[in-house]
Amino acid sequence: MDKILKYDKIFTVVHTNIILILLIYYMALFFGGRPQEVKLETIIPIAIAYIINLLLNAIKYSNSIFLFYVSRSIYLVIIAFITLLNIANPFKCMIAISCYFFIILEMQITSKQNSMGSQVINTVTATLPILVANIFVLLFTDTLEKFNIDVMIFFAFVVCMFYFIIHVVSTHVVDLEDKILVQSKLYNDAKQANETLLVTQQKFKQANELLGRQKLDLEQAYAKINRANSEIYIQNELLSYISSALEIYELMEVVTDSIIGAIGVDTCALIITDPVTGKTLTNIKSTSGKVVEQALKNYALEGKLTEYYEKGQVLVDNNVDSNKYPFMTQQIGSLLLMPLMKNNIGYGILIAGQKQKDMFTDNVSFFNSIANQINIAVSNANLYSKMENMASRDGLTQVYNRAYLTKKFNELVSNAVQSNVPISLALFDIDKFKKVNDTYGHMFGDEAIKVVAHIAEEFAEHNNGMVGRFGGEEFVVILPGTGVQKAYEIVQEMHEGIKKKALYFGEEEVHINVSIGLTCYPDTCKNPSDLLNRADWSCYYSKQNGRGKITIDNDSIRKEINM
Ligand code: GH3
Ligand code: MG
Ligand code: MG
Repeated sequence: MDKILKYDKIFTVVHTNIILILLIYYMALFFGGRPQEVKLETIIPIAIAYIINLLLNAIKYSNSIFLFYVSRSIYLVIIAFITLLNIANPFKCMIAISCYFFIILEMQITSKQNSMGSQVINTVTATLPILVANIFVLLFTDTLEKFNIDVMIFFAFVVCMFYFIIHVVSTHVVDLEDKILVQSKLYNDAKQANETLLVTQQKFKQANELLGRQKLDLEQAYAKINRANSEIYIQNELLSYISSALEIYELMEVVTDSIIGAIGVDTCALIITDPVTGKTLTNIKSTSGKVVEQALKNYALEGKLTEYYEKGQVLVDNNVDSNKYPFMTQQIGSLLLMPLMKNNIGYGILIAGQKQKDMFTDNVSFFNSIANQINIAVSNANLYSKMENMASRDGLTQVYNRAYLTKKFNELVSNAVQSNVPISLALFDIDKFKKVNDTYGHMFGDEAIKVVAHIAEEFAEHNNGMVGRFGGEEFVVILPGTGVQKAYEIVQEMHEGIKKKALYFGEEEVHINVSIGLTCYPDTCKNPSDLLNRADWSCYYSKQNGRGKITIDNDSIRKEINM
């Protein structure tokens, strides 16, 4: 029925136009001086058909296919009638025949019935009006010659041919429609498949994104595990070191190496003020090179870093302004300053610097635990150095003891021999010390021994030498790299120092003197293993020859002292 509605509008317009053309035509004939040619029997049926059509339209006949057929059949009859009446006028005849076919075409399209039966019915429906019109003309015009049987047969033939053509064409159209239907179904299927594919693709994309995110999470977790591993490794290293160790310099080396290697910072520095000696110790490593290391070292040695560790506060700067930390001369993005504290007093600092920003976030606690371990290690190292000190130093005077000095002396002598440099040895003994003890008491005697040892140590250290207590009130001074002449000058100075030093027993001023023997390899003693003996003999010589003097070793000394 949609089709009827659709085509009916077109046909109503066409009908109206046909009626108008005919009216204009007849009016032209009427007023053009040929009123006899105006045939009312023609215009009246057409007008009636038109009015019927308008009425049917008004009552929406197109809702009923039956009324549609009835209206079109009436049309056909009228047009057939007009055709027959105007058989002599080819123009009118042509218009009428065109209208006839036009209406048959409309019916065919509208009915859309392609079965053979319906085609026959359509053919009859199309042929019948021409028959009816012929009979009407035959019966009511009573002019037999007007009934043209040839025209009727021709008309019927044309109608049949027309239907045949329509049938063939419509069959093709149906085939084509079927094909189009199949194609459009295929197209729709493909479209649907495509949409499904797109949805699947979208899902894949989402799954992929999820996987990507999970991969990122995993990578981050992996990096965290790696970092935790590195941190555990460093802590283990330090722990094992703390339990075995014991040199503060070695400890500092292990700390900076481990942090650079395992945490991957660009710069790591450990600066400690040695609690025993008060010296500032530094261990600085930087991938930026020696110049950067030296600059930081100078800064530390000048004491400019103490302001950072005396506060005892951890400093973490993950977005470094390059002018803020003048001790870091290279470009850094992150900086960590971890003070080292003992009994609430800062005695050092651990510095870590990195080019990238945001380096020190969740690993600050790690540096904190490293600082704690350094504290333990430093304490251990100090304890050890104290113990080592105890083992190598004499309890009363704190100068080296005999065992350590002998060991050290042997090393120094073989170095001197290998390097072919001189080494001097002075041995001295306090004169008449028994008397000192007897006169002022042992306590005073102890003090006197300490004072003498201290003066000797000062001179020795000032001249790159060392002092040891060899026996009760007997000391040895070793001067590596010093020839006999220079050694004599040093020993003379030392001797003057001892002699000048006033000791007080109450109000009484007491002075101590010593007897000294000096030998030197290779200047006075060619055989290094004779050095100690020859120093001893020379000292004995001084004792035998008035005490309080220096004797330089010579080849006849042994004979002279009768040894
Ligand atoms: P000289 O060497 O000039 O020949 O006379 P001396 O009196 O020093 O003789 P000697 O070397 O025989 O005596 C050394 C004395 O030093 C004996 C000992 O009582 C004393 N002495 C040794 N060690 C100590 C010590 O640690 N403290 C004290 N107060 N006296 C010591
Ligand atoms: Mg003596
Ligand atoms: Mg003695």
